Amino acid sequence: MLKEPVLIAGGGGFIGGHLAHRLEADGHTDVRVADCRPIETWEQVVPGFDNVSLDLRDLEAVRQAVAGRATVFHLAADMGGVGFLLSHRVDCMLSVVIGANLVQAAAVEGVERIFFASSACVYDVTRQEDAASPGLREEDAYPAWPEDGYGWEKLFTERLLLHAGSELGIEPRIGRFHNVYGPNGAWAGGREKAPAALCRKVATAVRSGSPTIEIWGDGKQTRSFLYVDDAVEGVLRLTASHVDEPLNIGSDRLVTIDEVVDIIEAIAGVHLERRYLADAPQGVRGRNSDNTRIRARLGWEPSIPLERGLERTYRWVYDELSRTG
Ligand code: NAD
Repeated sequence: MLKEPVLIAGGGGFIGGHLAHRLEADGHTDVRVADCRPIETWEQVVPGFDNVSLDLRDLEAVRQAVAGRATVFHLAADMGGVGFLLSHRVDCMLSVVIGANLVQAAAVEGVERIFFASSACVYDVTRQEDAASPGLREEDAYPAWPEDGYGWEKLFTERLLLHAGSELGIEPRIGRFHNVYGPNGAWAGGREKAPAALCRKVATAVRSGSPTIEIWGDGKQTRSFLYVDDAVEGVLRLTASHVDEPLNIGSDRLVTIDEVVDIIEAIAGVHLERRYLADAPQGVRGRNSDNTRIRARLGWEPSIPLERGLERTYRWVYDELSRTG
């Protein structure tokens, strides 16, 4: 059972917006949503919720945001796709301030439980040099050699929350997302991730009649992709559970970037010539989720097929492109 009142920190963003809508659909009413962006720029807004625009790097603002909350979803981070992560390591690491503020304020305000949106980027990068990646198990995070910048921030905040659990009595719930995608997220401007970027490139080619698209890397790098509805389901199941150790929340279907493009092309009904950009940012060579622990602990794992999720994402990106010209 999810205990109200609730705070969604970073709820103006992609996953936070979907979480807010899901909580509304589930009948929750006492929900505060906080994000530093102006409310009119949030990805999604639930009008009946207490929506506040504030900077969670400010401890006083965080105190106000968590006041009276039993459950906090910590989804706030300065982040983006691989191009952003590799060139904004300082910005990514400074998100640590948000987690630190939330823990301090939660201790004072009596928050019972905090869900933290961690990432597959906590895993040792030297285990991800092979495209035929075996799934990453939760214990593979140690000894630690995570993605420089972003991954260290996630790993530090995980540990902060684990210790807040044992020393301050705030129950930690830690989900390590693997490449979440879907509608109502960044799809242009530099913060978008591969699925949205590829949907945009294909949609742009369709609309302009261009026969080519550019792909970062050689197209053989691999990932698994998690549709956002599965991500939200995982967040809610984990948060309601008794599991206080980190869990992967990811698909374990490993695909190449070329295979993602194949699927999007089939949805769009086109076949495009691919121009591979060898020097573009790519991140690790191969990354997959091992779902043994989430199956054992929650009796559940993500199941929405990539084809179905990409269909919804492509249609949404296409409409956004048409709407914004
Ligand atoms: P997002 O960028 O759409 O949402 C994050 C939100 O946090 C943004 O709306 C941003 O404005 C807000 N934020 C940043 N700094 C803030 C501050 N100082 N004060 C208040 N709000 C602030 O990203 P998302 O894809 O929805 O990701 C949500 C969480 O999940 C993040 O913590 C992210 O690191 C994590 N995560 C996401 C993925 C993914 O594939 N999307 C994968 C792994 C982990």
